[in-house]
Amino acid sequence: MLALAGYPLGLTFTFLDPAADAAAGEVGELLVGPYSDPGCLRRLGLSSDLVTFEFESVPDSSAQTLAAATAVFPPPQALAVAQDRLLEKRLFTELGIACANYTTVNGPEELEAAARWLSRPARLKSRRLGYDGHGQAPVAAESELKQSWRDLDEVPCILEEEVSFERELSIIGVRSRSGEVAFYPLTENHHQASVLRLSLAPAPQAGPGLEAEAQEICRGIMEKLDYCGVLAVELFQVGSRLLANEIAPRVHNSGHWTQDGALTSQFENHLRAGLGWPLGDTVARGHSAMVNILSTMPEPTSLLAIPGVHLHLYGKAARPLRKLGHVNVSGPDPHLVTDSVSRVGRTLRERLPPPRFEGSFWPG
Ligand code: AMP
Repeated sequence: MLALAGYPLGLTFTFLDPAADAAAGEVGELLVGPYSDPGCLRRLGLSSDLVTFEFESVPDSSAQTLAAATAVFPPPQALAVAQDRLLEKRLFTELGIACANYTTVNGPEELEAAARWLSRPARLKSRRLGYDGHGQAPVAAESELKQSWRDLDEVPCILEEEVSFERELSIIGVRSRSGEVAFYPLTENHHQASVLRLSLAPAPQAGPGLEAEAQEICRGIMEKLDYCGVLAVELFQVGSRLLANEIAPRVHNSGHWTQDGALTSQFENHLRAGLGWPLGDTVARGHSAMVNILSTMPEPTSLLAIPGVHLHLYGKAARPLRKLGHVNVSGPDPHLVTDSVSRVGRTLRERLPPPRFEGSFWPG
């Protein structure tokens, strides 16, 4: 999707992916090999003026190796922070950003201390390599803690209090090499089994106060990390407060609606930021919804028959809970967008919450 956004700007692309059948191979030269393969990294560095990543588990050492040969963005330091939940939490604390209470479980002694710390339901999260709910275990009571840690193979973890949030939101910001900053409107996110199913943007009932608070959180992180590119911050809304959950130093699933629902997509702005080119307008074109296509591939015509629908398929083989593509629905009329989202849900056999968009949307 980055390449598809970049070709109109006159850019060309080479990809590195461990899978020989990676979807990116359909839109550019594909180097096949591990992300840490010195030969692949050398070839990628030699053939590129600029390197970025859209997969968070790329070793930060690979990003550093490449940074010695060519320009890499987002900064490898941001990747290192995002890959370790403890470094992420420390960053939030250092910047005065509220987040769920937590304690560390780096070994058996800390497990004992964590058991004493625990006073309410929590979840144990592996510090590294967690995504879409992988590497997490619920801990309803102290008696479950040992087993939960065993379930996570006794890797270093954080134990985090369960947050009873009103809803999940994300803010997508972009910071250019030149320091220019822009934000997309707040997005409301709905997960099932910890996997993103539905995003709504601009988030209904957000209000300027919440929007400003989210932007300040995102701006603070981007400035602290001397950031370049798109950064997503996942947030919990508790009353009128925002708690930061985690950061993603890349284009983000909750920003996919921008392809059809914003004046400039997150993909184009990520590239513009890396190149130091002026950023594009991040304003929304109307009400937007993004629905992930998971597990099985629908018949495309059944979705395309729904008003306002745009289909984005990734060319991946079907597998349970694998993200195979997404559907974007945009338009100025909240009723029509809501109606189309329900039809998309029925077509995908998904039970999606009904969007609560307010009023007709006319940008500007
Ligand atoms: P994460 O990998 O941290 O983004 O977690 C995946 C999903 O699990 C989040 O989007 C939330 O729906 C849920 N989740 C994670 N941490 C918490 C928490 N402390 N309290 C409640 N829900 C959580």
